[in-house]
Amino acid sequence: MSMTTSENNICSKNTLLEETILQVEKAVQRLGLDSGYVKILKEPKRVLSVSIPIRMDNGSIEVFRGFRVQHNLARGPAKGGIRYHPEVDMDEVTALAMLMTWKCAVVNIPYGGAKGGVICNPKELSLGELERLTRRFASEISIIIGPEKDIPAPDVYTNPQVMAWIMDTFSMHQGFSVPAVVTGKPIEIGGSQGRNEATGRGVVFTIEEAASRLEINLDESTAAIQGYGNVGSVAAADLSNLGCRIVAVSDSRGGIYSEKGLDLEKLNAYKASTGSVVGYPEVRPVSNQDLLTLDCDVLVPAALENQITGENAPKIKARLVAEGANGPITHTADQILFERGITVIPDILANAGGVVVSYFEWVQDLQNFYWTKDEVNRQLRSRMVESFREVYQFKEQDGVSMREAAYMLALGRVARAMEFRGLYP
Ligand code: GLU
Repeated sequence: MSMTTSENNICSKNTLLEETILQVEKAVQRLGLDSGYVKILKEPKRVLSVSIPIRMDNGSIEVFRGFRVQHNLARGPAKGGIRYHPEVDMDEVTALAMLMTWKCAVVNIPYGGAKGGVICNPKELSLGELERLTRRFASEISIIIGPEKDIPAPDVYTNPQVMAWIMDTFSMHQGFSVPAVVTGKPIEIGGSQGRNEATGRGVVFTIEEAASRLEINLDESTAAIQGYGNVGSVAAADLSNLGCRIVAVSDSRGGIYSEKGLDLEKLNAYKASTGSVVGYPEVRPVSNQDLLTLDCDVLVPAALENQITGENAPKIKARLVAEGANGPITHTADQILFERGITVIPDILANAGGVVVSYFEWVQDLQNFYWTKDEVNRQLRSRMVESFREVYQFKEQDGVSMREAAYMLALGRVARAMEFRGLYP
């Protein structure tokens, strides 16, 4: 392996994992916890790597690789999404599982962290192939998932239909319906009202909290959203309902910018018919990278990790950045933004709305008693606002960034649970 390749590997592949561990080390130090916690928490508790052979539509056999990683179970069963992406790998899934441990702790729901991934490009698979891939993957990981063990959910490029196939496969193995084995299901089979919109909605609840403290008037503000998927499109709609002008959005194919603001209803109809926001009339095209440095008050990176780096962080113009995606800002960029006085609402707080409503869904499934959408949204808001306040309090007390504060809150909770339980044997 040449020097360049191994350097690239360190920079591009291990970054999220290494950077998450860095945050853990810092928080453990600040809290004055036993450094042994870092040793335990930088390792995932359990990793499963599976091969997924499926019959393709053309009759050939393809073999895919999938993972499920459980990071820490001190506070309850493992919880976290499943990602289908051509570039997903074990390190990334491990980092994302770790982020789920902190996320669940920040919003104080009784779960540990997990994540799953399958290396594939779902856009190139037929519906039948996707179903066979999902069912075989579900069957392979069924040895470690279950309502009291580990509860998957949607993540990048997975959706309620994929969750329905997982729920059905697991239920077929058991011989009876087990809705609580996954969350983010269709309503018809035990899904929760408001789950689809929960992540984007939660992002906006935290933006409202931050804006009021920063004296940003949202109804006179502009916002740019990177990633117009499940998270970004809901965040855009909710921000727009608060009077905020959405000046730019993007998806994996590129972005669009309009100084006077985008008409989201028309844009949604355009995206529904063409599959992308690119090509929308009477706007200026922008790249995914250029969108980040546009003139706006609020920036929501809601696509993938490592988007705001040491290179573009000095050029960010927004006053407030809310991480809709997991890990979109590198450690270096984070420090630059902090020094520049730009407030960042970290992923483990900003995008926790999804797993909060997943928790509500699981509770409803276990009780066979279902809530109204208003009840879900009311409880989501209260959970997000309370968590924001707790993180903000740490930030004010210790003069740290919102991210460091969120890690301190999360690490404190996880460490206390570990301390009570003790080291086995
Ligand atoms: N994939 C989402 C996340 O990263 C949701 C996980 C869940 O609901 O379990 O938070």
